[in-house]
Amino acid sequence: MISENDARAKILEAVRPLPARKMSILEALDCFAAEDYFARLPLPMFDNSAMDGYAVIASDCSPRDESVRPADKPGKHLRVIGEQPAGVDRQLRVSNGEAIRIFTGAPIPAGADAIVMQEDVTRNGDEIVLNVDVDVNEFVRKRGCDLAEGQTIIAKGERIRATTLALLASQGFAEVMVGGEVRAAIISTGDELAKPGEKLRPGQIYDSNSILLQSLLERCRAVVTSAENCSDDSDSLRKAIQSAAENEILIVSGGVSVGEHDLVQSTLRQLGAKIDIWRVAIKPGKPFLFGQLGQCFVFGLPGNPVSAFVTFLQFVRPAILKMMGANNVDLPKTAAKLTVDLTNDSDRAHYFRGKLENGKFAPIGRQESHALFGLSRSNALLRVENGASFKAGEMVQVEVWD
Ligand code: AMP
Ligand code: MG
Repeated sequence: MISENDARAKILEAVRPLPARKMSILEALDCFAAEDYFARLPLPMFDNSAMDGYAVIASDCSPRDESVRPADKPGKHLRVIGEQPAGVDRQLRVSNGEAIRIFTGAPIPAGADAIVMQEDVTRNGDEIVLNVDVDVNEFVRKRGCDLAEGQTIIAKGERIRATTLALLASQGFAEVMVGGEVRAAIISTGDELAKPGEKLRPGQIYDSNSILLQSLLERCRAVVTSAENCSDDSDSLRKAIQSAAENEILIVSGGVSVGEHDLVQSTLRQLGAKIDIWRVAIKPGKPFLFGQLGQCFVFGLPGNPVSAFVTFLQFVRPAILKMMGANNVDLPKTAAKLTVDLTNDSDRAHYFRGKLENGKFAPIGRQESHALFGLSRSNALLRVENGASFKAGEMVQVEVWD
């Protein structure tokens, strides 16, 4: 049995980033940037109006006489000499005594240095009366104030989020170089498994790991090419593994423990696979297996749903993210106040499932490897080292998976 850290290090050493590819920004969500990107345009690209209103010369409108109450101040009269909408630059110029009707996003006309909101003027024909004082640069969005040309907009290895895509689009990038695609196959083993929707025979259970693993894979943006069930017999297993091994990764659920029906390891060996890891000091998930069959990385996850879940997050997810070119393969961590006392007197680090809410972490449901209900209500994991304990009220670091 090896330590969890060693197992993780071994896996991350074995897998390599896959070749980068060019992708439309329409499809790049949750991929990882394969190069640094820099702003090629400033944002905003030109001085423009933050309001619907009037472009004016501030010094021409604002007596700024502090001794006069604003309500008593006579409003400045200006002649409206033109209109500047968004989308075209009409190359207008404003002089003293004049204003230009303007709309949000429209370029600031030459000579103007402030915008007066339309709510702050009274309009009479082609004249306006200002009901407010005006400061220089008021409601003017200055060129480059948000983003300067040459500034980094996304660094290599960063995850591409909705907002990253928006920024790339604002720069005119229609495509982006992203890390490689990870294709994954799932084989769920077990004579007891029936598919949801089928009729159960006595002794059977529904296969819940396939959909769990498929969903987790898709969350990492791996492409699930197949998800098959396989009975506990070496011939079927061999055939299933052989055809699934064309993928970058294969996840086999169940059959990795020590029983007579646990045939995954022996079948992999018969096929010539190299087994790098079997059994890790982690709870749940001890029988976890990692190996390589040709170019395919094989992860054998224990069949108990929580074991499959925890080993996926701790070992499979980081490997996939590394292959996809991510620079951070860890789950996000956050500090939380523990709501109960917790002790781990097993010989392995224990991942408690719980709910993180309002800065508190509360373990939820039974903490055994088959207990799917509690897992289904949880959104975070707390790792407790073997022999360690925490008291209620203590601050702990939890890993947020949802
Ligand atoms: P195994 O790892 O094959 O020894 O299975 C351990 C436990 O997990 C047994 O109770 C299995 O019935 C259960 N199990 C195995 N595969 C699945 C699956 N795909 N969905 C739900 N439970 C499973
Ligand atoms: Mg089994």
